[in-house]
Amino acid sequence: MGNVGIHPILKEVAAIFNGVGKQVFLVGGAVRDLHLGKEAEDWDLATDARPEEVTSLFRRVIPTGIKHGTVTVRYKGYSLEVTTFRSESSYSDGRHPDHIEYASTIEEDLSRRDLTMNAIALALPGGERVDPFKGLEDIRARRIRCVGNPEERFREDGLRPLRALRFASQLGFTVEDATLAAIPGALSTTAKVSPERIRDELDKTIGSPRPSLALLLMEKSGLLGLILPELAACRGIDQKGFHRFDVLDHSLLACDYAARTEAPQSVRLAALFHDIGKPVVRKLDESGVWTFYQHEKVSAKMARDIGLRFRYPNAVIDRMVHLIAEHMFHYEANWTDAAVRRFIIRVGEEYLEDIYALRQADAYATAGIEGEPGFLAPLVSRIDGILAQNRALSLKDLAISGMDLIAMGIAPGKRIGIILKELLESALDDPELNTREKMLEIAEKLNWRYTQPQ
Ligand code: ATP
Ligand code: MG
Repeated sequence: MGNVGIHPILKEVAAIFNGVGKQVFLVGGAVRDLHLGKEAEDWDLATDARPEEVTSLFRRVIPTGIKHGTVTVRYKGYSLEVTTFRSESSYSDGRHPDHIEYASTIEEDLSRRDLTMNAIALALPGGERVDPFKGLEDIRARRIRCVGNPEERFREDGLRPLRALRFASQLGFTVEDATLAAIPGALSTTAKVSPERIRDELDKTIGSPRPSLALLLMEKSGLLGLILPELAACRGIDQKGFHRFDVLDHSLLACDYAARTEAPQSVRLAALFHDIGKPVVRKLDESGVWTFYQHEKVSAKMARDIGLRFRYPNAVIDRMVHLIAEHMFHYEANWTDAAVRRFIIRVGEEYLEDIYALRQADAYATAGIEGEPGFLAPLVSRIDGILAQNRALSLKDLAISGMDLIAMGIAPGKRIGIILKELLESALDDPELNTREKMLEIAEKLNWRYTQPQ
């Protein structure tokens, strides 16, 4: 972890700054990632040039965050976020600095940053390291630590505790004691952070290789109760005889499994929230055993509320909710082909991969061991067989449409929909019936039945 290589483009850009007597440094996540031996995803630069000067130095400059002294420079196909040295200013709302104050040195700029590993600068073009808070030492010790006094830093910006824990999940680092201990005192500040900013951290946590690292620390420090009280309430909800773990540990294991198998975001979210309705629906039956009837419906509804609260896009919410609502299927070898077809229709072809992934995560998290990875195989092969014959049906696959029914003399309206649904049921029971002639015949009969006096 000695000197790190500086990209040639950064050297070119540095020459442009230096040519007018200005300094420029590579800062933030890119420097951290270089020290971890990772390719940086994007470049943040810090400079003593004011935003107007930066704008005058390059042809293509976009004022992306001009309120914070940041502009985006487009240079030879690369994108560089350039921020003028800033100093820490007051945050009376716990979210945004009241006004921006420029600083004159890189050291002062680094002192306003959140974590020591994020407060290292490399002078360009040479790459000399400026590391006043011993960030490199913390990176080597795989430790997350605030710059300066953690209580103060967290009270200035309530998002920082979430960032600290998110990095724990992304990097597999530990959080230094004083930093962790400062989180409870900053909860009222975190409570004021906008839902969108919290969602972005939640998303990065869930997108990390081990979401449970951050989520357990969130629980310990009170953040989970603040942000996801529904999930915090799953602690201690016992399901003995059924599961080895309480509902919270089970949910975290499921989410970790989804992350480890690189499942998409909606599956990870569904894994985390698939059982959150359990504390609400649980009841003791006569023999003294806890039951959780219909928990998937309640969990789905609660997950929708969470999604809306954090302003997730509707498409993400719908997908997650549908997966949760359908996660409780129990395949048996004696399912008829019609039953398998109904399953495909109910879940939807485009959700099958995700529902398998969710179910696998759920099974893993019940036992806490890998279990039988092939336990879904018999169902998957039945489904694949049916899909290969192209016999899974939905309304749009029927041999006739609503227009045909209207042409038969059925008045447009509710009855058309009802008849189409019944036609689909017939076709699911016996795909051979899905010809134009047979469908019209069945439709005639159905319509006749509707026209009879009750
Ligand atoms: P990544 O982009 O991988 O999520 P990053 O460290 O680059 O990680 P950014 O949000 O891009 O994070 O921020 C760039 C840098 O700005 C950080 O490395 C840190 O120095 C500083 N920073 C970002 N957010 C804050 C904050 N809330 N408080 C203080 N400093 C921050
Ligand atoms: Mg970044």
